[in-house]
Amino acid sequence: MLDQVHQDALAALVGPGGLITDPADRAAYETPARYAGGTAAAVMRPATTTQVSAVVGYCVRHGLRFTPQGANTGLAEGSTPDASGTHLVLSLDRLTGPLEIDPGDRTATVGGGVRLSTLNAALEPHGLFLPIDLGADPTLGGMAATNTGGARFLRYGDMRRHVLGLEVVLADAAGTVLQLSHGLRKDNAAVALRQLFVGGCGAFGIITQVTVEVHHRPRQTAAALLVPRDLDAVPPLLQAFEVEAGSTLTAFEGMSRAAMTRAIDHVPSLSNPFAGGVPDYAVLVELTRTWAPREGEAPLDEMLQQIAADLLERDDGLLIDALFGPVDRMWALRHALSEGLRASGPVVGFDLSFRRRDLARFRREAVLMLEADFPDYALCDFGHVADGGVHFNLVGPADKANDPERRAALREAVLTLAVDGFGASFSGEHGLGRAFQDAYDRFTPRLVQDYSAAVAAVFGTSSASVRLGPPTEIN
Ligand SMILES: Cc1cc2nc3c(=O)[nH]c(=O)nc-3n(C[C@H](O)[C@H](O)[C@H](O)COP(=O)(O)OP(=O)(O)OC[C@H]3O[C@@H](n4cnc5c(N)ncnc54)[C@H](O)[C@@H]3O)c2cc1C
Repeated sequence: MLDQVHQDALAALVGPGGLITDPADRAAYETPARYAGGTAAAVMRPATTTQVSAVVGYCVRHGLRFTPQGANTGLAEGSTPDASGTHLVLSLDRLTGPLEIDPGDRTATVGGGVRLSTLNAALEPHGLFLPIDLGADPTLGGMAATNTGGARFLRYGDMRRHVLGLEVVLADAAGTVLQLSHGLRKDNAAVALRQLFVGGCGAFGIITQVTVEVHHRPRQTAAALLVPRDLDAVPPLLQAFEVEAGSTLTAFEGMSRAAMTRAIDHVPSLSNPFAGGVPDYAVLVELTRTWAPREGEAPLDEMLQQIAADLLERDDGLLIDALFGPVDRMWALRHALSEGLRASGPVVGFDLSFRRRDLARFRREAVLMLEADFPDYALCDFGHVADGGVHFNLVGPADKANDPERRAALREAVLTLAVDGFGASFSGEHGLGRAFQDAYDRFTPRLVQDYSAAVAAVFGTSSASVRLGPPTEIN
């Protein structure tokens, strides 16, 4: 509960509707997309950068800890308060201006609280979009803070590749506002400080404005479901598509049979696209072009069919089947995987990232380990395999959902194998937060932790949910 003096002072800084103290109204800000919710002392909702600066400066001067929050879709438990009831939430949901588009420059400058869907709706009439594609509707500030990846990383990259400028508020006593670049594609006139804030998960400051590079929307799209011989065949198949489809290749998403089956079983709108039964593994491949079909040039769907036909005829047997159809129908299975998974039981999820060459070997070793030590958990993995990403999800029995010791043992076993055994990342694209703090403490080299904490100290550490230094450090 927030002291009445602080309540009055913060309410005055953010104006009417800018401070929420009522528990019922706070609930949405306290509950993350996954994991259990916490309790906020109050929710601050500044509507301008000046207000963000004022509340941040006030909190720092009075020793109040807070956590920045965008759309609260993050999967690392970094955007919500803990259970202590002492942390405030600094929501950016009223920071929805500006929303400026420069079609000629192919850039957009938006407030940190602007949603991806809002930006894309505004870009559509210009034939443009921000091609970071995911099953949630985050804010641009949150996307920059977590360095969002998504299903079209292979072609377009992550947020880091798109951020051309940032405005940030530092967590110091003055709530200093820093302008970091102004939308230039090339700028070596200073150290690129903005990149510290991209993927910093709010630890270095609060992102109040973002300038991003945007892209021309595709005017031709073709997609297929590929059935590889086995997981070892996936990297060479990907290489073949990289060569044959070149820059038209936009997505290459892997799905295990268990993940596909759960989606088909639990999502009523979905039917099984595979006539011969769900295969052990499938890959959704997508090609796009920014130009309309031209006379004398094969349309994209024909090109995709030709590449697949050539692969099917090859002696190496890498590809054993390929399904073609309307793009939406091809994507439907991929898009339903998370929903199918959640509906089928309690999930212990991992957001792992590997070198592509290690994906199959890790999976084999992990399956052996799971069969021996955790036979009651079913592996339902899928992921952005082209960039080495695996959402390594384990669905457990309902009665074990609240067995923290067993879940902890399972997490430890998987992470030890992945990180120690294969040099994987324990957070491929979901960033840092309380959910990964134990992994950060255990696997991030001590020197990296020390330097990260030192950098955060320079800027003034702003997030109560992300600790970059070793556990003894208070930051
Ligand atoms: C169904 C589903 C699918 C998803 N798929 C993907 C995916 O494919 N790829 C992927 O990368 N992620 C994915 N995510 C995760 C999530 O959507 C992203 O991490 C997203 O970018 C978070 O943005 P947000 O606005 O919701 O931020 P929040 O969840 O509110 O915050 C996330 C973190 O950023 C910090 N933060 C938020 N706003 C700011 C700000 N303005 N300044 C400083 N720090 C800030 C918070 O403190 C927190 O640490 C998915 C999530 C869901 C629920």
